[in-house]
Amino acid sequence: MTVYADNAATTPMSEAAVAAMLPYLTEISGNPSSLHSDGQRAKEALEAARADVAAALGAQPREILFTSGGSEADNTALRAAAVLGAEKGKRHLVSTAIEHHAVLHTLAALEKEGFEVTLVPVGESGIVDPAAVAAAIREDTALVSVMYANNEIGTLQPVAEIGAICREKGVLFHTDAVQAVGRCPIDVNAEHIDLLSASAHKFHGPKGVGFLYVRRGVKVTPLIAGGAQERGLRAGTENVGGIVATAVALKEALARREEDAARLTALRDRLIEGLAAIPHSALNGDPVRRLPGNVNFCFEGIEGESLLLLLDDRGIRASSGSACTSGSLDPSHVLLAIGRVHDVAHGSLRLSLGEDATGEEIDYLIANVREVVAYLRSISPVWRDLQSGQGRFLL
Ligand SMILES: *Cc1c(COP(=O)(O)O)cnc(C)c1O
Repeated sequence: MTVYADNAATTPMSEAAVAAMLPYLTEISGNPSSLHSDGQRAKEALEAARADVAAALGAQPREILFTSGGSEADNTALRAAAVLGAEKGKRHLVSTAIEHHAVLHTLAALEKEGFEVTLVPVGESGIVDPAAVAAAIREDTALVSVMYANNEIGTLQPVAEIGAICREKGVLFHTDAVQAVGRCPIDVNAEHIDLLSASAHKFHGPKGVGFLYVRRGVKVTPLIAGGAQERGLRAGTENVGGIVATAVALKEALARREEDAARLTALRDRLIEGLAAIPHSALNGDPVRRLPGNVNFCFEGIEGESLLLLLDDRGIRASSGSACTSGSLDPSHVLLAIGRVHDVAHGSLRLSLGEDATGEEIDYLIANVREVVAYLRSISPVWRDLQSGQGRFLL
């Protein structure tokens, strides 16, 4: 059996999205900036996709800026807010300790350019306290950036509350909603969101396409100079087919969202229950306020990488953290932020279920994780020390 349980890293394209994309790679291959009829057909498709994406968030079409993905959307949003802030002498940025690296590394770059950054900590639950965000906001705060749903531990953040606080204090609010778009109901107006990042390949669209919602009146400084595409905010010939497929994938995801969420939540909880029965294990992040398909555990006395490779041999595609940290020896900054110590954080496993997951697959996951964890412990010197009383169990 093969179980793809790494949907937080990327999702396969839906058949409808592939079908919608194909004509724009062949027959309708005009450049949307061309004035002839082939170009105008591409332009019409591009604008129809923009209208669909906007409607999905309660936004206006002119508020959607297509990008090369979530990372570019995050970079654009943070840099835009920094430029706007600096114009008014505001050089303070507020974010959280559990953001994606596309946000954290952009903030670190801005720090080097003279901005001051406050990262609000999160508790053991992995949920940001709106009061802590409010307390971090100062007179010179230019932006608050808090992700909608965490990519490692799946925790859902109180975005509407934080948005209301920012609106009241007159501070711009950005949310990295890459994990949430297509999975959570989002309304940029009701939630007081000024800037929102999304990525198509996280909701069964193509890789290399994303978008940034930019509230009307918020000025964006282009990261890429050149032609006047995207109302002069992002140069470069648009990825028409990819953008059309993005709109199709998003509409499809939202049409089946509630049904998918209910079924996935039940499967997720069954998986959590099965893995929690493994001795000296712990679920990472809030058990309830998390994405329907996200399961993230720490198992004491083992290495996450070994677990991952042995599971792969058994047909299970999983992750030991975020795809971006895999390959480096640093434990996940998210697990450290929720209070896991280095040794425990190293023995982590993320299983992110797809919408077509089945009960049979959940049973397969539970049985195989149990066996592989038991095997790895049987050959682990760390585990032997813990068992003989030479070390102290933390979980
Ligand atoms: C995947 C992801 C990104 C990056 O998106 P890309 O389209 O791969 O650049 C950013 N933020 C979060 C939360 C993500 O999960």
